[in-house]
Amino acid sequence: MKNLVEKSLEEILNEVLQTIPETVQLIAVSKTKPIEVIKAFYDLGIRHFGENKPQEMVDKYLTLPPAIKWHQIGHLQTNKVKYIAPFVHLIHSLDSTKLLLTINDEALKNNRIIDCLIQFNISNEVSKYGIKTINEIHQLLDSYIECKNVRIIGVMGMASHSEDIQKIQTQFLNLVEHFHYLKSFITDSSFCEISMGMTNDYLIAIANGSTMVRIGSKLFGERTYN
Ligand SMILES: *Cc1c(COP(=O)(O)O)cnc(C)c1O
Repeated sequence: MKNLVEKSLEEILNEVLQTIPETVQLIAVSKTKPIEVIKAFYDLGIRHFGENKPQEMVDKYLTLPPAIKWHQIGHLQTNKVKYIAPFVHLIHSLDSTKLLLTINDEALKNNRIIDCLIQFNISNEVSKYGIKTINEIHQLLDSYIECKNVRIIGVMGMASHSEDIQKIQTQFLNLVEHFHYLKSFITDSSFCEISMGMTNDYLIAIANGSTMVRIGSKLFGERTYN
């Protein structure tokens, strides 16, 4: 009987917010979800939304209130950077030197400095994006010196889709290690963000030092792709 009564968005949001410390930023992952639901969360006070397709983010940006801070959370192709460069709040998926240079060019054209997180492949799955080697990271850091229109403010990673809490925790701690390693090269105090944690693992992420959680299905319900 109980599941006949649908929870309101406000109840769902409050349940989630109760589990997130105030020092951790909630990013509501709204990919594939309609404008009306995003607006409803906006009216409940949510300002940070995450999308993974640039064109979809642009459409939503043009329709929804300008106070929304849009996060690019999925792999970003260099030829798509120009669409989001005028307004994107934070790119979580900086995963190559080529992408860094493109973001810098597009940011310059828009007279902006674009904040980015370096994405690491912490699950070691070949299908997943993200930096995998120390070589790649040093190549990226070398190029970063010349990039006046990009500011790297932290790291991002996705753990394996797994029931094994120990395994997930090990991967998150690995990301925290990468963060501290980078901090010895990027000394600016704005370098302080660790974006880790999704619907199934955000509590583990928070317990291990996450500063930003990216939550989709727990807020919006399961996604359907067509
Ligand atoms: C889709 C997505 C999320 C949200 O996933 P949920 O399991 O629905 O919370 C978070 N981060 C990234 C990079 C995603 O692509």
